[in-house]
Amino acid sequence: MLKILICFFFVSAAFAQRLPSPQGSYNKGSILFAQQLPLEGEGFMRLFRHRNRGFGSLEILNLIKRTALEMSLRYPMRDRMQLGDIAKMKGGRISRHSSHQNGLDVDIAYFRMNGMEQLPNIFDGFNEDMVINGKISENFDLERNWELMKALHRYGKVQRIFVDEVVKREVCHHAISIGEHDEHVEVLRSLRPFANHKHHMHIRIRCPDTARKCVAQEETAPGSGCELL
Ligand SMILES: [Zn+2]
Repeated sequence: MLKILICFFFVSAAFAQRLPSPQGSYNKGSILFAQQLPLEGEGFMRLFRHRNRGFGSLEILNLIKRTALEMSLRYPMRDRMQLGDIAKMKGGRISRHSSHQNGLDVDIAYFRMNGMEQLPNIFDGFNEDMVINGKISENFDLERNWELMKALHRYGKVQRIFVDEVVKREVCHHAISIGEHDEHVEVLRSLRPFANHKHHMHIRIRCPDTARKCVAQEETAPGSGCELL
């Protein structure tokens, strides 16, 4: 009898587990029962830890972990994925961002040729611009950043990746030069030129199917957008 009761207890506890639930929109939203990304894992590390903004949906956390693992296996001994803010524990408005409110956004520093990682708590912001005077920095690891963008699309419902306009132009030229433009139009299409993204890319995933109160953002126009640059 005791065994049955114990068993019943664990089964009920499992069913009662509350899964993260994004609510509202990216710019006016919140998240219920958010989960926290560890400070470090295989292939990633969190920056700005004192801000305590490592909370998000299962989908964004899984996307980060899977992509980071893949990139670390493919490019060992290089700089890991350096993550900025996701969201605060219950989501909602946070300083420095208009979005990052419903646990579906994350910032990632661009990969660097020199493999340097910044210290997680010393500097309150990404510490290296990759676009200087309208030109891409020599320290911008074009190949690895392109591979990262493709990997993100393989593992998650990525809708937008906000980048600097110069970064999109470089990535477009790279994809065209290695014959990957047509195969990866959707990846290129998701790259959205946006101010203040000289040092990091901002990943945004679509509302999870289970999150009925999540407000989706409109899809972007078809095509890679590379012809505009
Ligand atoms: Zn962001």
